[in-house]
Amino acid sequence: MGPPGAGKGTQAKRLVEAFGMAHLSSGDIFRAERASGSALGEKLAGYMDAGELVPDELVVEIMAKAVQDNDGPTGLMLDGFPRTVAQAEALDEQLASAKRPLDAVVVIRASDAVVVERITGRRSCPECGKLYHMTFMPPADDSVCDDCGVALTQREDDTEDVVRQRLAAYRQQTEPVVDYYRRRGEAELIEIDGDKAPDDVSQDITAALNNLPLGR
Ligand code: ADP
Ligand code: ADP
Ligand code: ZN
Repeated sequence: MGPPGAGKGTQAKRLVEAFGMAHLSSGDIFRAERASGSALGEKLAGYMDAGELVPDELVVEIMAKAVQDNDGPTGLMLDGFPRTVAQAEALDEQLASAKRPLDAVVVIRASDAVVVERITGRRSCPECGKLYHMTFMPPADDSVCDDCGVALTQREDDTEDVVRQRLAAYRQQTEPVVDYYRRRGEAELIEIDGDKAPDDVSQDITAALNNLPLGR
């Protein structure tokens, strides 16, 4: 979990390489649905481009299926889901009936100023999905992907106006999810300073995950 631009995607990609679990990003799943040109994708686009959360009913339906289809022996890293208490409750029910534990909830904290700077500089590769930042993690050559050589693209919702809206949604609807998990006490709650450099953030998360009590 974490506000837009905190580094969830960047860190999730590194962690799945290190720990070997599958990576499920709700934002990526929704963007793929949009790219397919389906009616569902069009519906999602309206909310996303306004910086609003997609309604719980839709999210839970799409993500429940994604979790079911991708859950394997190495487990799952959920990125960007759940984002409301209702989504967290639905996930809890699904995991309980599948007899799968939630080991840890990682919250990446980042200040508003940092978040806005990161979001407006964010670019990604339309081929391989690799993330860049034009100032902090620029591609080697101009604005093409280091690996694919194709032009990087910017997300429709990565403007300053929309990010302010997304930050407000985070504060109102997603922050309460942190308290929900703190109260439940079943999963380890790991809070990370996301203002630090990418490698430092990775190290902090990895150390915390390696310290998880075994056999939860
Ligand atoms: P970021 O990485 O900047 O936090 P995401 O790619 O995770 O953004 O999400 C982009 C948009 O997709 C969100 O602003 C929201 O509209 C929608 N979205 C993604 N995940 C969820 C979710 N779990 N619940 C509701 N809306 C979501
Ligand atoms: P989120 O998934 O939380 O929205 P991203 O991982 O997409 O965040 O990161 C947002 C932007 O900030 C990207 O352009 C990424 O390259 C950059 N970024 C991520 N983590 C850091 C960091 N620790 N320091 C500087 N820039 C970062
Ligand atoms: Zn690429």
